[in-house]
Amino acid sequence: MDDQQVWHHNTDRIKGLLAVLPAGTGLGLTQLLSRYRKAKEALAAVVAEVDAASVCSRCGGQCCLNGKYRINVLDALAHTTADIALSADFSQKPVCPYGTDAGCIMEPGLRPADCVMFICDAIDRKLSPQARLILAAGEEDLRDCIRKASALTGEPLGTPLLLWGGKSDTYKPKV
Ligand code: SF4
Repeated sequence: MDDQQVWHHNTDRIKGLLAVLPAGTGLGLTQLLSRYRKAKEALAAVVAEVDAASVCSRCGGQCCLNGKYRINVLDALAHTTADIALSADFSQKPVCPYGTDAGCIMEPGLRPADCVMFICDAIDRKLSPQARLILAAGEEDLRDCIRKASALTGEPLGTPLLLWGGKSDTYKPKV
């Protein structure tokens, strides 16, 4: 299968996973997803405060090249449960399959955790000690959500979506 086919296969697999979750597990997952989204929004807000938009527009989004493995299963699952359609265009490589001329197609709260946690050198230089503490706490919060959601569902949800079910069965997410 090529990337596009694996992507479709695994997004369908997410729907299958959600369909068989016991009610109590589904509720716990919903709560974790709400926390996951808020933590991403909080991280993005800290970075926005140091005028990341200007830094990113000068750079042209180099960190968004070759981004096809950044979305993990939990990130994709968050779209499914929020009923937000997600599309990916792997033909535009090396531009990320979720990138456009106007930037990422995903709003910050639904963006891949890896993308939200990544801080380039130019932005890093603008961060205050207080901002760094908030970012570190937010990153730990995201990793904890991934850990707990994985334990709840019995699936390694921090796995890149494209690797889930293949090499992913032995993949150890950095959580
Ligand atoms: S998912 Fe969005 S933020 Fe992440 S690399 Fe792709 S375009 Fe950039």
